[in-house]
Amino acid sequence: MEPTRKQEFEISQDLIDSIETFPLHREVAHCGTVFQVSPFDIYADCPRCGTRIKVRSFAAASELEDVFDAVFEWMSQPGAEEMARRRQQVLQQDRD
Ligand SMILES: [Zn+2]
Repeated sequence: MEPTRKQEFEISQDLIDSIETFPLHREVAHCGTVFQVSPFDIYADCPRCGTRIKVRSFAAASELEDVFDAVFEWMSQPGAEEMARRRQQVLQQDRD
């Protein structure tokens, strides 16, 4: 018997590749300098002038960061983090 699985939308390989290669930093340019912040930060403070800069857009279209936010929400459920950790171990073993 096939396991039940309901999915009524397509997930492109591009999306998966983009998540796998998602950068760990976002580069922000201000005052002629470039500094790095977490890609999930909504605001960044310029280290030179202290100006608070909005670094995440909240456009109508979802961005990749929103996919991560959804996963983070999922992971805040009891037991989810443990499942994710076990899966990461399997993925790590497959890579080695
Ligand atoms: Zn600045």
